[in-house]
Amino acid sequence: MSDAMPRPQVPAEAVRTGVVASQEPTCAVCGGPRAARKRETCSAKCRAALHRQRQGASMRTQLAGLRAGLVLIRAQVDDRLAEVDALLGALVATRRRE
Ligand SMILES: [Zn+2]
Repeated sequence: MSDAMPRPQVPAEAVRTGVVASQEPTCAVCGGPRAARKRETCSAKCRAALHRQRQGASMRTQLAGLRAGLVLIRAQVDDRLAEVDALLGALVATRRRE
């Protein structure tokens, strides 16, 4: 019992090769091989493309937020206009009765 060899859960060779295969660095833009010392992309061209992609995504997020705000404001304006119209209608009806 106490002299039983601890069994490794996964063969060491499989772990080593799996880690090597999954950690091979690739470019976030073109998917090509990337030097490990470079961050995210393989070249200046791909780095510029990634920057443009992120700027576009950021702009889309900002515009979506602004649009949602404007839609909310429009709904509130419509509500207030309906209130004003209702009050004006009531006022006109009251004066006609006088
Ligand atoms: Zn690339």
